[in-house]
Amino acid sequence: MSARPGQLSIYDKLTRIANNLWWSWHPEVVEIFRLIDADLFSQTRHNPVALLAHYAPEELDRITRDALLQSRIHHAYRRFIAYTESQTTWGATHTAILAQSPVAYFSAEFGLHESLPIYSGGLGVLAGDHLKSASDLGIPLVGVGLFYSEGYFSQKIDANGWQQEEYPRLPLKSLPLTPVTQDGKPVIVSVETRSDTIFARILRLEVGRVTLYLLDADIEQNSPENRQLTSRLYGGDQRTRIRQELLLGVGGVRALKAVGFEPKVIHMNEGHSAFAPLEVIRTRMHEDAMPFDQALQETASHCVFTTHTPVAAGHDRFDQGLVDEHIGPLGNALGLDIGGLMALGRVDPQNGSETFCMTVLALKLCRIANGVSNLHGIVSRKMWAGLWPWRSTQEIPIGHITNGVHVPTWLAAQMRVLYDRVLPENWYERTGEADLWKGFEAVTPGELWETHQALKGTLISYARGKAVQQARRRGEADSVIADVEQAFDPNALTIGFARRFAPYKRADLILHDLDFLARLLEDTEHPIQFLFAGKAHPADAAGKQLLQRIFRLTHEDPFRGRVLVLENYDIAMGRQLVQGVDLWLNNPRRPLEASGTSGQKVVLNGGLNCSILDGWWSEAYDGQNGFAIGNGRSHTDQAVQDQRDVQDLYAVLTEEVIPLYFERDSDDLPQGWIARMKRAIRTLGWRFNADRMVMDYASQTYVPAAGGLSCSIVQMP
Ligand SMILES: *Cc1c(COP(=O)(O)O)cnc(C)c1O
Repeated sequence: MSARPGQLSIYDKLTRIANNLWWSWHPEVVEIFRLIDADLFSQTRHNPVALLAHYAPEELDRITRDALLQSRIHHAYRRFIAYTESQTTWGATHTAILAQSPVAYFSAEFGLHESLPIYSGGLGVLAGDHLKSASDLGIPLVGVGLFYSEGYFSQKIDANGWQQEEYPRLPLKSLPLTPVTQDGKPVIVSVETRSDTIFARILRLEVGRVTLYLLDADIEQNSPENRQLTSRLYGGDQRTRIRQELLLGVGGVRALKAVGFEPKVIHMNEGHSAFAPLEVIRTRMHEDAMPFDQALQETASHCVFTTHTPVAAGHDRFDQGLVDEHIGPLGNALGLDIGGLMALGRVDPQNGSETFCMTVLALKLCRIANGVSNLHGIVSRKMWAGLWPWRSTQEIPIGHITNGVHVPTWLAAQMRVLYDRVLPENWYERTGEADLWKGFEAVTPGELWETHQALKGTLISYARGKAVQQARRRGEADSVIADVEQAFDPNALTIGFARRFAPYKRADLILHDLDFLARLLEDTEHPIQFLFAGKAHPADAAGKQLLQRIFRLTHEDPFRGRVLVLENYDIAMGRQLVQGVDLWLNNPRRPLEASGTSGQKVVLNGGLNCSILDGWWSEAYDGQNGFAIGNGRSHTDQAVQDQRDVQDLYAVLTEEVIPLYFERDSDDLPQGWIARMKRAIRTLGWRFNADRMVMDYASQTYVPAAGGLSCSIVQMP
């Protein structure tokens, strides 16, 4: 029912494009908004809806005519319509069974774009990339999440290096979100607890061909307390947490029903949404007059669960009081008393002292479960073996699908030009195919290096610009600001470290022996420099201290001007970093990094990884496509492991990384290094991308679950 392109005004076309996040992974479309007003686009966090709000239709018509943009806009619109209407997709041929009823993908966070900061880190960005690839592949899928009106938080670092959190309200009116209505009134879902009823409206967001539904509790039907319920991601206490999760799971299933979906397959991305299957069980019992046990078996056979971390704090646990208050009414409808409910969240149903664990609940309510890398699969099977005491560890029914990243989102436009030249036409629609990436061998060392150097130049000016802005705001001395303006050398080996400042990620590992690090930085023959960024959880004082320690170093010689800390790490900053660094450092305490994905983004852009053999890197590293810290051993004593990893880190830097980077030929090209860049792209690009990942989910989990079959990944009892 799309109008003929010729009939729509430029303003209408741009508005339609701006209201579907499809634009965000098409660089030529992003460029259109930048050309309309680069400063405004940047001030709005690259939000085209907010940008367009500044113009009257006639004004936009004039500006785009003057800038010779109109034919590009017509072309972009035609591509957009062709994309949304295309019937010939991978999904059409491989997931036909889902056509009647799309997969419902539940996640507490979605990291789709910097203008919609409802994510905290890797889990959210992964969910965002999952939706984008599902859209590109044409897999029938809808997302379900929460709308956090204040997002996660915005990070500032004060003059003492201490993290300050700010919670600006998101500009809902200028986000591409539309309230779902019926007969002109907002559709409201409700979930009852023992003490009250929680209401929420439904906001919809278009992500290419996929729709994401976000529940928003900030509506007048709610008590003042409940209006705050969805204001912050991972904010509040345990009570807030269980109420958010109740809304996400139970409210989410009700919301889908309200918009006309009865999903057959439910994919729980992490345990936060594990109440969802309980609501489906309730409906089956009620509508199909099924007994509880049968409804559970039946529902679980259509549920898929992905666990994302071996870190204990990542698995929500609730005490009996909170469970009774919030799940009690649902339990009554299921015919379960509090003992029966608690048993669903306990490894040992008889153990009255065990708290209620969302991961346990999810594992009991699905028939297909997976971790997010080969190693994480192994760790998860050990971790949850208690649920199947009669099985050996190898038989624990948790498989793995390794995470990947959405290539068009993370690939720099300049790199894309190279890809376009050497890879087959429409390569970006087939990134999951290994053979396709072999074409990358045709890139010459010189052009790859020049492209990389240009991107690195962009990163350096970005980093200086940000650092100056931040230093001014802190009121730092002129001398400090002058240092920052001159910081960094385009010829230095540039090492990036950006991630959540969770303790196991050990942002300070490299600082273990400061004298050693100082000597590295003082070597003028082999200049190196470091960029750090990352947020500590607001309640994590140790994480904030880490950040402070690194921040203070940036004011001391010889670190001054060679180590920068950028505040407020987000998707936009992530893009700059992964596109411009030479080396991406990752040194988690093995095996606590379930997968990690930022290093995969770096690979696509020609950067090299230097990482502990944990998560995805333990199955990616082949000796020639990056660098390994250590040999993949772990030690039960943390202090011993930390000490050993420090030695290994220093060794790989001084013996492998630095020599290879500075070994130049007569054209000043580091041929050995460039060979690794090419090898990384060719051997890793096809495996660690989200198309491959989502195709694996589709064929190994969604299609079998749609048929109600348990499959090779998992055979639950
Ligand atoms: C990719 C990404 C992450 C996840 O990266 P890890 O390697 O898991 O740390 C976190 N935050 C942002 C902003 C990202 O873009």
